[in-house]
Amino acid sequence: MVVILLGPPGVGKGTQAVRLAEELSAAHVSTGDLLRAARREGTDLGRKAQGFMDRGELVPDGLILDLVREHLSSFDVGTPVLFDGFPRTEDQATGLDELLDEMGRSVDLVVLFEADDEVLVKRLSGRRSCPEDGSVYNVYFNPPETEGVCDRCGTDLVHRKDDNAETVARRLQVYQDETAPLIAFYGEHDAPLERIEADREVDDVFADFRRTVSTGSAGDRAPRERAEGRG
Ligand code: AMP
Repeated sequence: MVVILLGPPGVGKGTQAVRLAEELSAAHVSTGDLLRAARREGTDLGRKAQGFMDRGELVPDGLILDLVREHLSSFDVGTPVLFDGFPRTEDQATGLDELLDEMGRSVDLVVLFEADDEVLVKRLSGRRSCPEDGSVYNVYFNPPETEGVCDRCGTDLVHRKDDNAETVARRLQVYQDETAPLIAFYGEHDAPLERIEADREVDDVFADFRRTVSTGSAGDRAPRERAEGRG
């Protein structure tokens, strides 16, 4: 099973992906997390990605596709995968199809998380994440039990540098320009595209997400019918 979580920064894809990955024993592949890890480790990729990330711009497609290829080769070919924050451009989406094809796999489902820009801005500015296990919290909507500390592993939470007001605005614009066209791309794709209203309680969004993945990846209807909301 290969599922893509699509949607703007701050919509809550990471929170949802971490929860579902745990429940399904799936791999949560967040290119943002992989890039931040590369930066912390000071790798060549981390150094190349740094400027783009700090400006809220996209890291070049070639670097991202190499990163994903290498990461996918690190687990069993049958492992369920939840892609979070990837693909972000049409070239990445096409590259992913080719990469999966080589592995005898394909995208099973695309889930689009949606919310208004003003909600996204608040979510991003209130966001705190765990550098250790990737858990994501929000001081307004989803605070940890103890302020500033990860519920799961006790590590101190961090406020990402690119969650400041100026960079947030740039990231939302980049989403509109470069990633939102993927909605049309996946509307035409064999994999069904399902939409989830994400401006709700985390648990309610999760209930919908879980149901969507369990029915959407079961192949019970023709993909195109589901994308168009028929049947
Ligand atoms: P994220 O944590 O997904 O919001 O990603 C943080 C930053 O990492 C983005 O603003 C980009 O600079 C970079 N990034 C993450 N994923 C990608 C991707 N698939 N393509 C290009 N850049 C990415």
